[in-house]
Amino acid sequence: MDPEEFRRAGHAVVDWIADYWETVGQRPVTSQDPPGAVAAALPAGPTEQGEPVEAVLADLDRIVAPRLTHWQHPGFFGYFPANTSGPSVLGDLVSSGLGVQGMLWATGPACTELETVMLDWLADLLDLPKRFRSTGPGGGVIQDSASSAALVATLGALHRASKGRWRTDGVDRRYRAYASTQGHSSIEKAARMAGLGADGVRAIEVDPATQAMRPAALRAAIEADLAAGVVPAIVVATIGTTSTTAVDPVAEIGEICAEHGVWLHVDAAYAGSAAVCPELRWSHAGVEYADSYCFDPHKWLLTGFDCDAFWVADRGELIEALTVMPEYLRNAATESGVVIDYRDWQVPLGRRFRALKLWFVLRWYGVEGLRAHIRSGVALADRFAARVAADDRFELAAPHPFSLVCFRLRAGDEASAELLRRVNTTGRVLLTHTRIEGRYALRLAVGSPLTTEHHVDEAWHLLSTEADALLSD
Ligand SMILES: *Cc1c(COP(=O)(O)O)cnc(C)c1O
Repeated sequence: MDPEEFRRAGHAVVDWIADYWETVGQRPVTSQDPPGAVAAALPAGPTEQGEPVEAVLADLDRIVAPRLTHWQHPGFFGYFPANTSGPSVLGDLVSSGLGVQGMLWATGPACTELETVMLDWLADLLDLPKRFRSTGPGGGVIQDSASSAALVATLGALHRASKGRWRTDGVDRRYRAYASTQGHSSIEKAARMAGLGADGVRAIEVDPATQAMRPAALRAAIEADLAAGVVPAIVVATIGTTSTTAVDPVAEIGEICAEHGVWLHVDAAYAGSAAVCPELRWSHAGVEYADSYCFDPHKWLLTGFDCDAFWVADRGELIEALTVMPEYLRNAATESGVVIDYRDWQVPLGRRFRALKLWFVLRWYGVEGLRAHIRSGVALADRFAARVAADDRFELAAPHPFSLVCFRLRAGDEASAELLRRVNTTGRVLLTHTRIEGRYALRLAVGSPLTTEHHVDEAWHLLSTEADALLSD
């Protein structure tokens, strides 16, 4: 494909995406086809002779698009949002076109430096502690996901807890991680990958009303472990848990960590984006105690997957934990000690130029544009929650500080699960569910940039009429 052919085909692809965004709201949110439908529609192998891009676009229309879950659909209220946006796609396109590998500063200086500055901008935008800035002892990096951030934080913590011995001796079951019972599954996965074993994470109980970690229970667990000769390595506090968006008391947890020299990682994967709004920064009280912090612009900040922003308070400690220097990567810039080599901040060696999509997003929307997006999500969630609260058949199942509303039918678990099934089969919305203190709850998470009052009202109307039908059955 020469540049002229690329130009022509590229325009066609951009048109295809723009058409998709214009019409996605008219599609069913989810596909009802059985497993195997897509595979059965594909040929057994590639064509002998090359085909034009138009042929691929036709099959995108015919085979792929009808069998997707449309995450950018205005009626998508499942899980957490996974935003994308025009500027994000365009920044990613430039990244693909440049095809740069940013593993070392020397393999793409602008790739590294733009990322460092974008993470400093983001730290300012969220009003994160000064020590996370690259101009201080810390710094930020883009990880593919909050799961990778949890693994990298765990490795840094093990490095500290073992006084560097984990690099040579490995780990054994003497080290432990702590998170609330509501902590994300990636924490357990990280501990397992780091070699802490099946009981490597202690699940700390939560307050039943708020679903937030109980600091006294954390203290008791750490002290019991210390008494038994186990070394507490890392505590993961969550701002905005996946189930209900509960906010752990980070300041109280931080004080306990500081007392015992335990690494504190703050996982704000979804709710970190809320901190772009000053009125929502109460949720980040105590982050000054954190040794590391992450959030996912790819969830709620208009930046396409993958983009997790991860900061450490002491970059030296992280680099010491992760660096390996083979001869073929030696270079003068690294040896000078004045550059950042991001390969030492992550698990893989290679890395894409992901800072470009952040740059495009931050410049296109500006601070006020990003705040408007977050505020719209919060306002729409409030609007929906008010409908739930005013209806005797329903009840709110948890506080809703951000843009997720957890609710249920008072008629019980089975009725609530059946209601979810019925509204989702309409194809107009997708909601998901959770359990809170053992009881079933529906989750409605607002966040698609296309979602408006109209769509939230439609979701409520569907729930309300399906509830009528179900309760009179
Ligand atoms: C979504 C989520 C994660 C995992 O996110 P990935 O970036 O997909 O790995 C981790 N923690 C919390 C609290 C989440 O909500």
